[in-house]
Amino acid sequence: MKAHYGYKDGAGSFFIIIDTDKCTCCDERGCVSACPEGVLEIITDDYDDEVAAVAEDHRKKIKYSCAPCKPDRDRPPLPCVSACASGAIMHSW
Ligand code: SF4
Ligand code: SF4
Repeated sequence: MKAHYGYKDGAGSFFIIIDTDKCTCCDERGCVSACPEGVLEIITDDYDDEVAAVAEDHRKKIKYSCAPCKPDRDRPPLPCVSACASGAIMHSW
């Protein structure tokens, strides 16, 4: 399942999309430790699988939570994306 976390407003569309099917085979959980802002966590979903998710308190301010990783110029690779060998994490902006 592709889980979408975030929102859309006049400034754009700000979503983190997690392909949670890929999380079920992941032992490393590297995304959680790689995120300097504590945005990502592991939850048990409706199918009893342990998958990555955006923590509740970041969902309505994700643009700002992720801002330290996304400078306007010379944006480096995102730590969460780099840490996920399965390529399960995508960002809409
Ligand atoms: S590292 Fe990737 S596959 Fe593993 S839990 Fe995080 S998002 Fe899921
Ligand atoms: S972009 Fe940075 S702050 Fe946002 S989820 Fe990824 S590692 Fe965490």
